[in-house]
Amino acid sequence: MEVLLADYLGFCYGVKRAIQMAKENAAKDGTSCTLGPIIHNPQMVRRLQEEGVGTVSSLDAMRHGTIIIRSHGVGPSVYEEAERRGLNMVDATCPHVKKAQLSAKALVDEGYAVILIGEKEHPEVKSILEWASGKARIVETEAEAKAIEPCARLGVVCQTTFSRVRFERIVAQLLEKAREIKILRTICTATDQRQAAAMALAEKVDRMLVIGGRNSANTTRLAQLCAEKCLTFHIETAAELQPEWFDNIEKIGITAGASTPDWIIREVYKKCQNR
Ligand code: SF4
Repeated sequence: MEVLLADYLGFCYGVKRAIQMAKENAAKDGTSCTLGPIIHNPQMVRRLQEEGVGTVSSLDAMRHGTIIIRSHGVGPSVYEEAERRGLNMVDATCPHVKKAQLSAKALVDEGYAVILIGEKEHPEVKSILEWASGKARIVETEAEAKAIEPCARLGVVCQTTFSRVRFERIVAQLLEKAREIKILRTICTATDQRQAAAMALAEKVDRMLVIGGRNSANTTRLAQLCAEKCLTFHIETAAELQPEWFDNIEKIGITAGASTPDWIIREVYKKCQNR
């Protein structure tokens, strides 16, 4: 059986950078904490905890020490609150996310009615909304875009990890809605590269393995895309591999979300090769 890896998989630039910054600021006394899990991967969160970087869900839990902002970013109120509390801040917001946040703010400042294309519950989307002073309307589906009232000037910004295909379909609906429309294409290429590489591989193999946290939106999306091409299994670690998945197949493909550590990908790859 052949085991094939997607051309692009695993940690993206923003996640690598955030983890590096967290490690550099680790404090064994538990006073370095990320605000929310650094990435949507429980294994990596545990490993960082062992290295001295904890997790808090709110600044209320921090009386002193260093708060690390993860790659998804936060709204301006968190910066103000951290300063008010006298906390040391390490801002690991991915530069691409920062660009989306500032783009939304600029569109509001320029007087556009702002549409933020993205998943309503995603932390990055919530942070972008806050940078837009709460004045953006979040649109997640074509049906929601269709329901928008026509207006004079529409500004569009997007969650960095949103599917490009869905983004273009939603934009096609929005083009009907305003005389002037300004579209800021803030989708990050890491997402595109991983999705395109995963789909290309899924076409060539009998089964796909998609590795990453079940709470990771980008990994779940990879699994959905691969499942359109072949039988696909979403796993978090090599321990979940089932012997029957390898029965009567010639090729198995592996991909991993942008928040999946290399060591987990290596373990899965090795275990598949040893079948
Ligand atoms: S997926 Fe893109 S925007 Fe998100 S953290 Fe990675 S590099 Fe940054």
